[in-house]
Amino acid sequence: MKLTLAALERRVVACRRCPELRAYCAEIARIKKREHRERTYWGRPVPAFGDPRARLLIVGLAPGAHGSNRTGRPFTGDASGIWLYRALYRAGYSDRAVSRERDDGLVLHDVLITAALRCAPPHNKPTPEQLRRCAPYLDHELSLLPDLQAVLGLGAIGTRAAAEALRRAGYRFERPPKFAHGMEAVAEGPPDRHDVILIASYHPSRQNTNTGVLTETMFDAIFTRTRVLINDREDAGKRAAP
Ligand code: SF4
Repeated sequence: MKLTLAALERRVVACRRCPELRAYCAEIARIKKREHRERTYWGRPVPAFGDPRARLLIVGLAPGAHGSNRTGRPFTGDASGIWLYRALYRAGYSDRAVSRERDDGLVLHDVLITAALRCAPPHNKPTPEQLRRCAPYLDHELSLLPDLQAVLGLGAIGTRAAAEALRRAGYRFERPPKFAHGMEAVAEGPPDRHDVILIASYHPSRQNTNTGVLTETMFDAIFTRTRVLINDREDAGKRAAP
Protein backbone atom coordinates (compact mmCIF):
# COMPACT_ATOMS: atom_id res chain seq x y z
CA MET A 1 0.00 0.00 0.00
CA LYS A 2 1.35 3.41 -0.98
CA LEU A 3 1.45 5.82 1.97
CA THR A 4 1.94 9.56 2.08
CA LEU A 5 5.48 10.58 2.95
CA ALA A 6 4.34 11.75 6.40
CA ALA A 7 2.60 8.43 7.09
CA LEU A 8 5.62 6.49 5.87
CA GLU A 9 7.93 8.43 8.16
CA ARG A 10 5.63 7.75 11.13
CA ARG A 11 5.97 4.07 10.28
CA VAL A 12 9.77 4.43 10.18
CA VAL A 13 9.80 5.97 13.66
CA ALA A 14 7.74 3.09 15.03
CA CYS A 15 9.76 0.36 13.25
CA ARG A 16 11.06 -2.56 15.32
CA ARG A 17 12.52 -4.80 12.62
CA CYS A 18 15.99 -4.65 14.19
CA PRO A 19 15.54 -5.18 17.94
CA GLU A 20 19.30 -5.05 18.48
CA LEU A 21 19.50 -1.56 16.93
CA ARG A 22 16.43 -0.30 18.79
CA ALA A 23 18.03 -1.50 22.04
CA TYR A 24 21.36 0.13 21.15
CA CYS A 25 19.73 3.49 20.28
CA ALA A 26 17.67 3.44 23.47
CA GLU A 27 20.76 2.63 25.53
CA ILE A 28 22.72 5.51 23.97
CA ALA A 29 19.74 7.75 24.73
CA ARG A 30 19.78 6.60 28.34
CA ILE A 31 23.52 6.95 28.93
CA LYS A 32 23.98 10.15 26.84
CA LYS A 33 27.17 12.07 26.19
CA ARG A 34 28.32 14.24 29.06
CA GLU A 35 27.82 17.49 27.09
CA HIS A 36 24.21 16.55 26.31
CA ARG A 37 23.26 15.04 29.66
CA GLU A 38 20.55 17.67 30.26
CA ARG A 39 18.85 16.91 26.92
CA THR A 40 16.29 14.26 26.08
CA TYR A 41 17.57 12.04 23.27
CA TRP A 42 15.32 10.97 20.41
CA GLY A 43 16.62 7.37 20.67
CA ARG A 44 14.41 5.92 17.89
CA PRO A 45 14.59 5.46 14.10
CA VAL A 46 15.17 8.80 12.37
CA PRO A 47 12.68 9.74 9.64
CA ALA A 48 13.60 11.43 6.36
CA PHE A 49 13.50 15.22 6.36
CA GLY A 50 12.84 17.75 3.64
CA ASP A 51 10.63 18.72 0.74
CA PRO A 52 8.02 16.14 -0.34
CA ARG A 53 8.24 17.57 -3.90
CA ALA A 54 12.03 17.26 -3.93
CA ARG A 55 13.86 16.82 -7.20
CA LEU A 56 17.02 15.84 -5.29
CA LEU A 57 17.17 12.91 -2.85
CA ILE A 58 20.21 12.61 -0.57
CA VAL A 59 21.01 9.16 0.81
CA GLY A 60 23.35 9.14 3.80
CA LEU A 61 24.65 6.21 5.82
CA ALA A 62 22.86 6.12 9.19
CA PRO A 63 22.13 8.32 12.21
CA GLY A 64 25.08 9.21 14.43
CA ALA A 65 24.71 7.89 17.98
CA HIS A 66 24.94 11.38 19.51
CA GLY A 67 23.89 13.27 16.37
CA SER A 68 20.54 12.46 14.81
CA ASN A 69 19.88 9.67 17.33
CA ARG A 70 19.86 12.57 19.79
CA THR A 71 17.97 15.18 17.77
CA GLY A 72 15.68 13.04 15.58
CA ARG A 73 16.52 14.85 12.33
CA PRO A 74 19.00 13.51 9.73
CA PHE A 75 22.47 15.06 9.91
CA THR A 76 21.55 17.24 12.88
CA GLY A 77 23.67 17.48 15.98
CA ASP A 78 27.05 16.31 14.75
CA ALA A 79 30.01 17.39 12.64
CA SER A 80 28.76 15.78 9.40
CA GLY A 81 25.58 17.80 9.62
CA ILE A 82 27.46 21.06 10.03
CA TRP A 83 29.06 20.42 6.66
CA LEU A 84 25.94 19.17 4.96
CA TYR A 85 23.55 21.96 5.94
CA ARG A 86 26.18 24.62 5.24
CA ALA A 87 26.62 23.22 1.73
CA LEU A 88 22.86 22.94 1.21
CA TYR A 89 22.41 26.56 2.25
CA ARG A 90 25.14 27.78 -0.09
CA ALA A 91 23.52 25.86 -2.96
CA GLY A 92 20.08 27.33 -2.20
CA TYR A 93 18.50 24.13 -0.88
CA SER A 94 18.08 25.32 2.71
CA ASP A 95 16.77 28.53 4.27
CA ARG A 96 19.60 28.56 6.81
CA ALA A 97 23.10 27.24 7.19
CA VAL A 98 22.71 25.46 10.52
CA SER A 99 20.33 22.67 11.54
CA ARG A 100 20.15 22.82 15.33
CA GLU A 101 17.12 20.86 16.47
CA ARG A 102 14.22 18.95 15.03
CA ASP A 103 11.83 21.83 15.75
CA ASP A 104 14.05 24.80 14.83
CA GLY A 105 11.88 25.70 11.81
CA LEU A 106 14.55 25.07 9.16
CA VAL A 107 13.01 24.54 5.73
CA LEU A 108 14.61 22.59 2.89
CA HIS A 109 13.65 23.40 -0.70
CA ASP A 110 13.72 20.78 -3.44
CA VAL A 111 15.68 18.24 -1.42
CA LEU A 112 14.80 15.31 0.82
CA ILE A 113 17.43 13.81 3.12
CA THR A 114 17.22 10.13 4.01
CA ALA A 115 19.60 7.28 4.84
CA ALA A 116 20.43 3.68 4.06
CA LEU A 117 19.73 2.81 7.73
CA ARG A 118 17.40 4.74 10.09
CA CYS A 119 18.75 3.55 13.44
CA ALA A 120 22.24 4.37 14.69
CA PRO A 121 24.43 1.27 14.37
CA PRO A 122 27.31 0.53 16.76
CA HIS A 123 30.57 2.04 15.43
CA ASN A 124 28.63 3.48 12.45
CA LYS A 125 28.85 0.06 10.81
CA PRO A 126 25.54 -1.44 9.72
CA THR A 127 25.45 -5.13 8.90
CA PRO A 128 24.25 -6.28 5.45
CA GLU A 129 21.19 -7.82 7.14
CA GLN A 130 20.26 -4.53 8.86
CA LEU A 131 20.63 -2.65 5.57
CA ARG A 132 18.43 -5.20 3.87
CA ARG A 133 15.73 -4.85 6.52
CA CYS A 134 15.72 -1.06 6.25
CA ALA A 135 15.84 -0.87 2.43
CA PRO A 136 12.04 -1.00 1.89
CA TYR A 137 11.74 2.45 3.45
CA LEU A 138 14.09 3.91 0.86
CA ASP A 139 12.18 2.08 -1.88
CA HIS A 140 8.93 3.57 -0.64
CA GLU A 141 10.40 7.08 -0.46
CA LEU A 142 11.63 6.80 -4.05
CA SER A 143 8.13 5.88 -5.16
CA LEU A 144 6.72 8.97 -3.44
CA LEU A 145 8.92 11.52 -5.24
CA PRO A 146 7.22 12.15 -8.59
CA ASP A 147 9.53 15.01 -9.55
CA LEU A 148 12.80 13.22 -8.72
CA GLN A 149 15.67 14.13 -11.05
CA ALA A 150 18.82 13.29 -9.09
CA VAL A 151 19.92 11.06 -6.22
CA LEU A 152 23.06 11.93 -4.30
CA GLY A 153 24.74 9.11 -2.38
CA LEU A 154 26.97 10.15 0.49
CA GLY A 155 29.80 7.65 0.91
CA ALA A 156 30.07 4.17 -0.56
CA ILE A 157 27.24 2.68 1.53
CA GLY A 158 24.81 5.54 0.84
CA THR A 159 25.62 5.39 -2.88
CA ARG A 160 25.24 1.61 -3.04
CA ALA A 161 21.92 1.78 -1.17
CA ALA A 162 20.70 4.46 -3.61
CA ALA A 163 21.77 2.46 -6.69
CA GLU A 164 20.14 -0.71 -5.39
CA ALA A 165 16.89 1.11 -4.54
CA LEU A 166 16.80 2.59 -8.05
CA ARG A 167 17.33 -0.87 -9.54
CA ARG A 168 14.55 -2.36 -7.42
CA ALA A 169 12.27 0.46 -8.60
CA GLY A 170 12.89 -0.61 -12.21
CA TYR A 171 15.63 1.86 -13.21
CA ARG A 172 18.47 0.49 -15.32
CA PHE A 173 22.13 1.49 -15.41
CA GLU A 174 24.16 1.00 -18.55
CA ARG A 175 26.94 -0.37 -16.33
CA PRO A 176 27.01 -0.90 -12.55
CA PRO A 177 27.79 2.41 -10.84
CA LYS A 178 31.14 2.28 -9.02
CA PHE A 179 31.58 4.59 -6.05
CA ALA A 180 34.00 7.51 -6.54
CA HIS A 181 33.67 11.11 -5.47
CA GLY A 182 31.95 12.97 -8.31
CA MET A 183 30.73 9.79 -10.03
CA GLU A 184 27.63 10.32 -12.18
CA ALA A 185 25.50 7.56 -13.69
CA VAL A 186 22.25 7.81 -15.62
CA ALA A 187 19.51 5.50 -14.31
CA GLU A 188 17.12 4.88 -17.16
CA GLY A 189 13.59 5.07 -15.81
CA PRO A 190 10.84 2.46 -16.09
CA PRO A 191 8.02 3.35 -18.51
CA ASP A 192 6.14 5.50 -16.01
CA ARG A 193 9.18 7.42 -14.68
CA HIS A 194 11.76 9.63 -16.35
CA ASP A 195 15.50 9.02 -16.05
CA VAL A 196 17.35 9.98 -12.90
CA ILE A 197 21.02 10.81 -12.35
CA LEU A 198 22.88 9.10 -9.55
CA ILE A 199 25.73 11.20 -8.17
CA ALA A 200 28.24 10.19 -5.50
CA SER A 201 30.17 12.19 -2.94
CA TYR A 202 32.50 11.36 -0.13
CA HIS A 203 30.55 11.33 3.11
CA PRO A 204 31.13 14.53 5.14
CA SER A 205 32.24 12.48 8.15
CA ARG A 206 34.99 13.80 10.39
CA GLN A 207 37.24 11.06 9.10
CA ASN A 208 37.03 12.64 5.62
CA THR A 209 36.76 16.34 6.48
CA ASN A 210 39.51 16.39 9.13
CA THR A 211 41.94 14.66 6.83
CA GLY A 212 41.26 16.78 3.74
CA VAL A 213 39.85 13.83 1.79
CA LEU A 214 36.76 16.02 1.43
CA THR A 215 37.13 19.81 1.37
CA GLU A 216 34.31 22.36 1.44
CA THR A 217 35.17 23.35 -2.13
CA MET A 218 34.79 19.74 -3.26
CA PHE A 219 31.52 19.37 -1.38
CA ASP A 220 30.11 22.66 -2.72
CA ALA A 221 31.01 21.57 -6.25
CA ILE A 222 28.84 18.46 -5.82
CA PHE A 223 25.79 20.55 -4.92
CA THR A 224 26.46 23.07 -7.69
CA ARG A 225 26.60 20.11 -10.05
CA THR A 226 23.25 18.75 -8.81
CA ARG A 227 21.70 22.14 -9.59
CA VAL A 228 23.15 22.18 -13.10
CA LEU A 229 22.06 18.60 -13.81
CA ILE A 230 18.53 19.15 -12.51
CA ASN A 231 18.10 22.40 -14.44
CA ASP A 232 19.52 20.90 -17.66
CA ARG A 233 17.20 17.94 -17.38
CA GLU A 234 14.17 20.15 -16.78
CA ASP A 235 15.10 22.27 -19.80
CA ALA A 236 15.53 19.14 -21.94
CA GLY A 237 12.16 17.84 -20.71
CA LYS A 238 10.45 21.12 -21.68
CA ARG A 239 12.05 21.06 -25.13
CA ALA A 240 10.88 17.46 -25.63
CA ALA A 241 7.30 18.21 -24.51
CA PRO A 242 4.83 18.50 -27.41
S1 SF4 B 1 17.30 0.11 11.09
FE1 SF4 B 1 15.49 0.38 9.81
S2 SF4 B 1 14.56 -1.64 9.70
FE2 SF4 B 1 15.94 -1.67 11.47
S3 SF4 B 1 14.66 -1.05 13.21
FE3 SF4 B 1 15.63 0.80 12.43
S4 SF4 B 1 14.10 1.64 11.02
FE4 SF4 B 1 13.56 -0.50 11.37
